[in-house]
Amino acid sequence: MTNSGNREKAESILKLARITEAPVDITKVAESLGFKVIPFDFPKKRRGMLIIENGVKAIGVNKVDPQAVQRYTVAHELGHYLNGHEHKENQFIEDETRFYDHHFQQEKEADLFSSELLMPKDFLEKDLATMGLDIPKLIEKYQVSEQALWIRLTSLRLAEKYSSSHR
Ligand SMILES: [Zn+2]
Repeated sequence: MTNSGNREKAESILKLARITEAPVDITKVAESLGFKVIPFDFPKKRRGMLIIENGVKAIGVNKVDPQAVQRYTVAHELGHYLNGHEHKENQFIEDETRFYDHHFQQEKEADLFSSELLMPKDFLEKDLATMGLDIPKLIEKYQVSEQALWIRLTSLRLAEKYSSSHR
């Protein structure tokens, strides 16, 4: 799956959930796809998991993680679901060791989807045009981690565009 495929998926889901500006209400997005979001007392290194069982669709997130991380985890799990990734017993489990397993490509795709969903390109372009490259403000508005925001701004080439024009 290409990045543009993930972009189209994210855009159509935002439309479905009627979300037109940041912060993306990720619980509402999950619910529009039939998922319940459940904060859970996971082991420390577990970000979350997705479960589909007996017609029940749920995403568990680690309740001790910061809000921005929990939001990213929900979006990441939806990325697995919408990309039709293979999984074991209808579950995805997100541990820190995930980077070493052979599903790494799927993890990258789920991360791509997550950033498309939480930081849609057209939302960012609009906000950057009015706010400039104000990182603290953007973090507050999008409710994402600073790292996720920088990766997104860099990959869209928006960081370089706005750092030069607003200096
Ligand atoms: Zn994953």
